[in-house]
Amino acid sequence: MRKAILAFICVFLVLGCLGGGGSLKEYSETRNLIGTFISVTVYAPNAESAAEAINASFAEMTRLGGELSHYSKTNKVHELNTKGFDEPVELGPELSFVLNRSLYFSAVSGGAFDVTVQPLVLLWEQMKDTNVSPADAEVKEAKSRTGYENILLSGGTASFARPGMSVTFGGIAKGYIVDAGLGVLRGHGIVHALINAGGDVGAFGGKPGGGSWTLALRNPRNESDYVTLISLRDGAVATSGDYERYFTPDKSVHHIIDPRTGYSAAPVISATVIADSATDADALATTVFVLGPKEGIELAESLQNVEALLITENKTILKTSGFKF
Ligand code: AMP
Ligand code: MG
Repeated sequence: MRKAILAFICVFLVLGCLGGGGSLKEYSETRNLIGTFISVTVYAPNAESAAEAINASFAEMTRLGGELSHYSKTNKVHELNTKGFDEPVELGPELSFVLNRSLYFSAVSGGAFDVTVQPLVLLWEQMKDTNVSPADAEVKEAKSRTGYENILLSGGTASFARPGMSVTFGGIAKGYIVDAGLGVLRGHGIVHALINAGGDVGAFGGKPGGGSWTLALRNPRNESDYVTLISLRDGAVATSGDYERYFTPDKSVHHIIDPRTGYSAAPVISATVIADSATDADALATTVFVLGPKEGIELAESLQNVEALLITENKTILKTSGFKF
């Protein structure tokens, strides 16, 4: 529960008052799904049309959460993780899209983003119970079962080139789910909406009357304080932080792994990325977190319509040149 609350306040949504827009009113609902609180906010002419759109959006996000989770025992991710070395697994269009987008971010980041990092995540996760750091040999062994280049794609299927591999979409799925939730709202005729999935936010249409949504980026070391305000009309913002899930009390071992070393990514405590889609913002926040201040800012500068803000261990804030939100 505490984890969920922390995720929820990762980005505070500062909802202003109605900004014109005729008879449109603001409606908002928050539910606890896919291990986090998700808020859907829309402007709609009445409560019935708002509820219909919001319910449909939550239903789609719930469905996709099940499709992309590595905890499920019945989805394609599970099939890939259990049989992927023995035979090619048919992905279906949604998992295909997410996997291909993941591989794109692996390629542009030299492997800093890598969905095959799961064996290392599982190894480090054990520290939560044991409080004992895995031996270097264990890290080396788990690392030998990773590597995005060992995912083989062919005609809508995927398989693993090495035994013992597994994938997690934890670094990208929330963003994809936000994009899909927004798509459903659009399909219901909504023209101003925002979805906040534990700090991964996507929006379209701004506020009625031309205003923007205002988000407060939380201080990674003080959940009731914020670092900066970000205004958003059409697009997405996502944040990766060591405070989201950690395996040691001092947060030095946490859930974001540098696949190039096998250890928790170190010099950054929070990475925020603004991008056109929540899928990209989510994947890039994880990527930039792993790459660290220098390479992370360089990658964000090299990509179109992407901005980043990083907070380092010694609390220095670094931004891309276009980060003026
Ligand atoms: P996020 O909170 O979006 O940064 O995602 C963190 C989650 O992504 C972790 O809980 C892991 O499941 C997964 N993950 C950890 N390290 C990486 C990485 N280097 N590349 C891709 N996914 C990762
Ligand atoms: Mg991410």
